[in-house]
Amino acid sequence: MTQPFLTLNDGRSMPQLGFGLWQVPAAATANVTMTALRLGYRLVDGAAIYGNEAGQGHGIRASGVPRDQVFVTTKVWNSAQGYDSTLRAAEASLKRLALAHVDLLLIHWPCASRGLYVDTWRALVRLRDEGRALSIGVSNFNAPHLHRIIGETGVVPAVNQIEVNPRLQQPGLRALHAELEIVTQSWTPLGQGRSFAAPPVAAAAARTGKSPAQVILRWHIQTGASVIPRSTRPAGLAENLDIFDFALSEPEMAAIATLDEGARCGPDPATFEMA
Ligand code: NDP
Repeated sequence: MTQPFLTLNDGRSMPQLGFGLWQVPAAATANVTMTALRLGYRLVDGAAIYGNEAGQGHGIRASGVPRDQVFVTTKVWNSAQGYDSTLRAAEASLKRLALAHVDLLLIHWPCASRGLYVDTWRALVRLRDEGRALSIGVSNFNAPHLHRIIGETGVVPAVNQIEVNPRLQQPGLRALHAELEIVTQSWTPLGQGRSFAAPPVAAAAARTGKSPAQVILRWHIQTGASVIPRSTRPAGLAENLDIFDFALSEPEMAAIATLDEGARCGPDPATFEMA
């Protein structure tokens, strides 16, 4: 299977499709990770707060896929924000993963009212310079947060991982990403199934013989975003990977674009501060 890669603004390349590990039980994570990698996924999205980094690392090793062919992401949790505590948190993540480096390290949420995300970003820059994270980025950053870290450090994040699904398409933020050469990575890409029966999705599924989930993942791919669906079922993992043998037409893409309601599944980054 040939799958697409995106070029990041630091010159590195990243698989466009990956799989996510949020809410995957720690005891099942090694198996889900190994299964996904053996099926052909090459990007695994984890986070310290998911509590399953040890399984993420075990699954990578158990898969037999060479380390340099797996793109590994983890994230610094809110309670670790600040310069020194971020350095410590990243080392703790690497220890749990049992890896010498991650491919991508993200700030999980800005938590703007705490005022620590610029210092946290400076720590990520250092971790990149030291080779502990090959690329660095952010998650759930709105335009003001992006402008601030770039303005204060001159370093543009490679990725902003944000909620995107047919009901929450974030056109303004994605236009800013395009301008700044930041890759958009879509979390909760299936939108809790809320658009599976929507006429534009159902019609494209009927025409292509694909499932609604596959149509939505293909829509993400054709918008140019990276996408990281989660499934703990081997059949679900396989289905979500099987999206490179068909294409949505321009009218189908345009019809799905009309489903945007600005309706979130997850928390609002402007106010989410959970420690
Ligand atoms: P997804 O949009 O990937 O949906 C996951 C749900 O959809 C599960 O219930 C899964 O069930 C089901 N599902 C998966 N594939 C199919 C399919 N083909 N057909 C029908 N149902 C399907 O949601 P997530 O919220 O997990 O987001 C994906 C990833 O994004 C996370 O795992 C995490 O890595 C990341 N994320 C990041 C956040 C951030 O703040 N940076 C926040 C939230 C998520 P089943 O397992 O039974 O298949």
